[in-house]
Formats: sequence, structure tokens, C-alpha cells
Amino acid sequence: MKKNAQTGARELKGAKKSRGICYLVGAGPGDPGLLTLRGRECLSRADVVIYDYLSNQELLGFAPEGAEKIYAGKIAGQHALHQEETNALLVNHTRAGKCVVRLKGGDPFLFGRGGEEAAALAAAGLRFEIIPGVTSAIGGLAYAGIPVTHRLRNSVLTIFTGHEGPGKESSSIDYKAIAAAPGTKVMLMGLKNLATVTRELARAGMAVETPAALVRCASMANQQTLVGTLGTLASLAEEAQFQAPALAVFGEVVNLRESLNWFEARPLFGRRIAVTRTRRQAGGLIEALRELGADAYELPTIRIDPPADKTAFVEALADVRGYDWIVFTSPNGVEAFFNAFFAAYEDARDLGGARLAVIGNGTAKKVREYHYAVDLIPKEFVAESLLKEFKELNVEHLRILLPRAAGAREVLAVELEKLGAIVDDVPVYQTVPETEDVTGGIKRFRDEGADMITFTSASTATHFTALGLPMPEGLKTASIGPVTSAEMRSLGLAVDLESAQHDIPGLVDAILRFYIA
Ligand code: SAH
Repeated sequence: MKKNAQTGARELKGAKKSRGICYLVGAGPGDPGLLTLRGRECLSRADVVIYDYLSNQELLGFAPEGAEKIYAGKIAGQHALHQEETNALLVNHTRAGKCVVRLKGGDPFLFGRGGEEAAALAAAGLRFEIIPGVTSAIGGLAYAGIPVTHRLRNSVLTIFTGHEGPGKESSSIDYKAIAAAPGTKVMLMGLKNLATVTRELARAGMAVETPAALVRCASMANQQTLVGTLGTLASLAEEAQFQAPALAVFGEVVNLRESLNWFEARPLFGRRIAVTRTRRQAGGLIEALRELGADAYELPTIRIDPPADKTAFVEALADVRGYDWIVFTSPNGVEAFFNAFFAAYEDARDLGGARLAVIGNGTAKKVREYHYAVDLIPKEFVAESLLKEFKELNVEHLRILLPRAAGAREVLAVELEKLGAIVDDVPVYQTVPETEDVTGGIKRFRDEGADMITFTSASTATHFTALGLPMPEGLKTASIGPVTSAEMRSLGLAVDLESAQHDIPGLVDAILRFYIA
């Protein structure tokens, strides 16, 4: 076939007959928030995700649960897959008609071999799209408070790799050209060669006093920055045993960090906090802790499933108009209840005249999400406080529905009955141990440990202990309230911190106080 623009177009047209497509997606430098909207959209419809070492594993959570996830990463010197194997993997899955996402750290076209992978797909006549990403060379340095250019200081940017091809006799890096260029120089890869690189750059004429910095895991909560000069950076890195992945930057702009270091200045920066909640719920707490700079990660221990026996729930729903009160004790209960309610009824008014009581702001918020008002919320977010309110209201002969977790504590039901109420204590969901480690949190806890672990319900504590993970030295434990704390103690866990207000904002506040006090 003749190689010209026309045949190229024809080849592409032919390829469109195959449903398969491969998206080469830039994952950004690490902060999951730096993935593009388009990248997230592609992930959400992926059949297969092929990701590498530098792309944040958390992004896999945006892929459908059933998507196949293949690690094709590289850890310096330790190739999980050779480039040809990765190319073949992309080509084969795409040819098979799959929606393939190739997730690559930073931007796929900057030292990422994205060009090679795209070429392999093009050669196979397959459809592909490039979704650019935030490169570590620019975005990563921004998180260290270093702008790569500055009108008054540096207006040229050189990005080079410090990685030498293996087995090369002479250097493949043109130190003279790099040193001769004005402005900022950013080096990717090659931390191991830092001593050689800095020495050669100095030899080629760059001033040894040039401000320089190393940034490790840029934009991630475990980001580390080391500042020196061209002359000192290599020995400082050696002393500190600075690890990859890291960027090196040389230029006057490094000094701007003194006033622009926003990321590392946040109050919980450097604190590693494991959050045990259900996978779907961990988000809010993790986000709040991350906003404050913590290295918060999800340690999923439980999952919400329908109750094993649904009979009572079905009966309660059929007779739902007969209740005077419905009392919700958790957001999960609200969700399980209303999801089933709206599956059975089409009109919100079918709930009848029942008044709604809740324990906790989170539960109240959830009720309001379904566009129902909350009639009663006790000052303290515990069952005892709600009972006190009901005592004053007089609930004698009133019918109360208590949609709750299977196996939850029954004190509320028993006490309401003592007040003369007719109580239907109905399990609407059950918490079961989470068996999947989709986001890699369990592995992280094992490998890296944590400074603190949070428990937001008794069952998170129970299920965490059941995982039998080793407890990192010096680990602090945070509890959302007395019920959770009691369970923690009975499981042999210490309670270093108990939140005075028993909800997520309260817990976040308590953690902040714990560390900044
Ligand atoms: N395509 C990527 C770069 C791939 S080369 C991008 O655009 O960012 C891999 C090198 O990138 C690493 O050796 C390291 O030097 C740098 N790198 C990538 N992500 C990084 C991060 N979060 N922190 C520090 N360096 C990073």
C-alpha cells in the first residue's frame, strides 16, 4: 500500500469498524484531582485499564468495578513489562474491541513513551486518542512552590532526562547545550546520576551557586523537597537518602519557594492517616483531611449489603403509612430505606404522615437529600439523647419504625418500648467485611503504615481487627464517639483521641487539634 495521506485516512476509516479504542491518558503527577475531566470520562467507560508505576492507583477507582486492571509499571531497573509487551497488550485488547485506557504518569508525551505506544496502535490500524495530562515537570514543581518561569527571572525552560541509556559508553546527555541555555532547567529521571549530572553541568559552565531543588512524589501527600545549589544538591540528596521518583530543578525560580510554598505549609502536611470506612463513604473524611494537607488514604474494611433477611423490611414498607415516627440512626439506614421505598412507591407522599427523627448531622443531611425535612435531631448524636427528647414528647402508643443495620444495638428499641411506643426494629442493611483492596489501601497500610487510623463506627473497628494487619509502631487511633471507642477498647485497641462531636466534621476538627495543639 502506498504511504500517503490518503491511504492513511483510509486505514483509519477501516479501523473504525472495530469498536475497540485505546485512550492514552495522562494521569497527572499524583494528586488525583489533577486528572483531566476527559481522562476521568474515559476511565469511567474502560473495559481494561493498563496503568504504570507513576500513575496514582487511586484513579483506578474511577473505572467501572468490573474493569480489568493491568499493572504495566516500571520501577527503575525492575521492568514489570517490556515496552514491546506493553505495546502488544494495548494492541491486542484494542483489537479485541475493548475500550482500553492506558494510564500514564504526568503527560503521556513527555518522557512517557506515549509516542511509541500511539505509534504501535497507529501501525495496527487501531483507533486511539491522546488525553494530555499535567506533567510533573511543571505541575509537580508548582506543588513545591516553584514556578518554572517567572517574568523577571527565568523566561526559558529546558526539560531534560538525567537517565542514561544502559550500556552506553559515552554520555547521551548534552551537558554543554543544557548549561548554555538560559533560564530554568528541570531534570526528570536519573536521580541516581545526580552527582554526575550536577558535576557535568558545572563543568559545562553553569554557576555552582545556581539555586536547585529536588522534589519527590510531587503533588502527593508524601511530597518531600530538598533545597540546595547546583554545587550541593547531590551530596544533600545522598545524606538524606532521597528516593525516586524525583524531579530536579535548577534556576533562580527555586528561591520563590520561600514565599510560594503553599502545599507543604498546610496544617496536617506529612501526617499519614488511614481512614477505615466503607469504600463509598470514605470519600468525605479523606477529602477533608487532605484539604488540611494530610496524607489520608482509604482502608476499606466494610461494605454495605442488603440484609440477609428482607422480610421485616418488606412488611414495614408495605405498611409504611401506619407509622407515627421513623427514626434513622445512620446515613446508610437512610439510603437503604429510601432506595427501597422509591423502588416500591412512585410518590414521595406515599410515606404518609410519619415524622422523621435522626441521630447525627450526617444522617440529617442524607434525609434532606431525599427532599424530606427532619423533624427531630437531638443535640448530642447518641441514642440516649434522642430517648430523652422522645420521653418529653410522650410516644405512648405511637408506632415507630427503626430502620437500621442488621445486628445493631437494640437499646433504642428497648427503651422506646419502655416509653410505651410500638416499635418495629427493622434491619434494612448489613455491613459485611470488604474483601477487595481496589485502591491498594490495605497494601499501603502493610508496607508503609500510618501515623493515625480513624474509626467512624464500631463495625469499622471490628472489621479492621478481623483483617489481622500488623500495627505500625506509634500508630495513633481516632474514634468518632463513645460507642466506637467502647468497641475499640473491647477489641484491644487504644483510643488516643475521641471526637467530642460525633460526626465527620467533628472528627476532622479533633484530629486537627490533636496535631496542632
Ligand atoms: N510523563 C511523565 C514523566 C515520565 S518520566 C510526566 O509528564 O511527568 C518519569 C520521571 O518523571 C520520574 O523519574 C520523575 O523524575 C518524574 N516524575 C513523575 N511524577 C513525579 C512526581 N509525582 N514527583 C516527582 N517526580 C516525578
